[in-house]
Amino acid sequence: MIKDEQYMRLAIEEAKKAGEIGEVPIGAVLINGNKIAASGFNLRETQQRSIAHAEILVIDQACKRLGTWRLEDATLYVTLEPCPMCAGAIVLSRVKRVVYGAPDPKGGCAGTLMNLLQEERFNHQVEVVPGVLAEECGQLLSRFFKKIREAKRLSRLDNSSLQ
Ligand SMILES: [Zn+2]
Repeated sequence: MIKDEQYMRLAIEEAKKAGEIGEVPIGAVLINGNKIAASGFNLRETQQRSIAHAEILVIDQACKRLGTWRLEDATLYVTLEPCPMCAGAIVLSRVKRVVYGAPDPKGGCAGTLMNLLQEERFNHQVEVVPGVLAEECGQLLSRFFKKIREAKRLSRLDNSSLQ
């Protein structure tokens, strides 16, 4: 859907904001009906909170703004496949649809490692649309990690030249 790509672009913009402040670039946007209810990005380092993932922040913000914990009309757009914690929060807040960008082979719980969003034994299942602008979303991450590796390598070189 064209709309999915448009909203994913907004999530990508959020992810870039995270990258600019040294956070792993993951962004999310929550659409309720056809309005943006919340947008945000990963803030784990800034806040030193293991739970400060983009999805959690966005769900929390949307619940506060909409005055309800039930997000039954919501579509959550996120640049990386949700982890187990975020998948849990998505199910518990009854989000209708999740559209994600890049798959996460190390933590993805929306179909890659397991699929918590569509586990029939839970009382809520989520529509999942994987791989929207996946390449762009994944590139943000791979570029970010490459930059970090290079910085580490350079600082090692610096240190060894001092000795
Ligand atoms: Zn997460």
